[in-house]
Amino acid sequence: MKGIELQKSKTILEMQRKSVLNQLSALKNDKVRKMRPLSRGLDDQAQEIENDQVIDQLELKDYKKLESIEAALTRIKNGKYGICSTCNNTIAKARIIAIPYTDKCIDCC
Ligand SMILES: [Zn+2]
Repeated sequence: MKGIELQKSKTILEMQRKSVLNQLSALKNDKVRKMRPLSRGLDDQAQEIENDQVIDQLELKDYKKLESIEAALTRIKNGKYGICSTCNNTIAKARIIAIPYTDKCIDCC
């Protein structure tokens, strides 16, 4: 991968990392807000539990994404970015653009 493309991917990954971190702290704030005893009815409580589960799922998804982004940034540092971790082939540029933190080519994903 060319230096300039690598730099571009790095910038995109850093932006994505920032936005995931922002989202994670927003989700955290959502949870904190709900600690207050607001709702009384059982229906409300059920709704809140459901919301919490949705937030947990979003959080988990974000943490996984964050992990992938961090790993991709490490691969850039190690000179392994853009290479499939399974078959060692070069990952297609279009795929890198679509999913900058991917570590697998289209055949291995
Ligand atoms: Zn592969």
